[in-house]
Amino acid sequence: MANELAISVSGLRKTYTSKANGPKDAVAGIDLEVSRGEIFAILGPNGAGKTTTVEILEGYRDRDGGEVKVLGQDPAKLGRDSWAWRNRIGIVLQSTNDAQDLSVSEIVKHFANYYSNPRDPESVIRDVGLDEKKNARIDTLSGGQRRRLDVALGIIGNPEILFLDEPTTGFDPEARRAFWDLIRNLRDEGTTILLTTHYLDEAEALADRVAVIVNGKIVEISTPENLGGRNTAKARISWLENGQRQEIESDFPAAEVTKLVAKFGGEVPELTLIRPSLEDIYLKMIGQP
Ligand code: ATP
Repeated sequence: MANELAISVSGLRKTYTSKANGPKDAVAGIDLEVSRGEIFAILGPNGAGKTTTVEILEGYRDRDGGEVKVLGQDPAKLGRDSWAWRNRIGIVLQSTNDAQDLSVSEIVKHFANYYSNPRDPESVIRDVGLDEKKNARIDTLSGGQRRRLDVALGIIGNPEILFLDEPTTGFDPEARRAFWDLIRNLRDEGTTILLTTHYLDEAEALADRVAVIVNGKIVEISTPENLGGRNTAKARISWLENGQRQEIESDFPAAEVTKLVAKFGGEVPELTLIRPSLEDIYLKMIGQP
């Protein structure tokens, strides 16, 4: 079904209580829906509540309030359905350090055994770019290679939903591009993907929609193109005149540029026209100048 929901969340709340600081609302009433086959990104500053939200959806953390359905089931009430449900989801956690003495190939094959319909371990290792390291012990991998292995373990079970918590931390630029291609391919095969990231370019390159969370609340859910009114925001036009940089903002940049071309009788010195980037909009939304 085209608009079937993979994830639905309403009124989600989680409070942590520490002796030193008392209660803290890490998630303070979140509503969101993710359709099947969608790539959905959660953005937010450190401590915003992203990981807590994702861990509740993964069934690894209890909640204090609200309704949650992931693939039609409440992750807090799986009971005997737990294995069947876990068989349908894939998780890439913030990196773990277990099984260091196994090789890449051994651990990927080992994880494949947990699932009823796994992908082929050899092709998964190739897809994450670890072919040359398949016989290397895990404790000899670099940080970025280790992260690729985490991704391999997340997708080996051929999941219907893939949860990715800051998946490309430590990747070099080439590995990030390759990872993005991999994620798009998974989406094209019908996998739903929920990712948290601190990289605005990653959200822009991958996400169909993004949610910005600040202090446990959603500030906005939108497409990367439209977030924070970005699509209708004024353009900044800048040029050099009498040795001085000039700058104006306009809703009608083409008209302004036409005027400048007429004024200069042709080429406008060092002309630039800039729309606000996703990062500009995001920083404004989370209250940074
Ligand atoms: P980051 O971008 O740094 O990973 P985040 O958005 O994922 O941050 P969370 O890890 O969900 O944020 O944390 C949300 C808030 O809850 C933070 O204030 C954090 O200190 C607090 N918190 C998280 N886990 C616990 C815990 N186990 N016990 C107490 N407080 C916690």
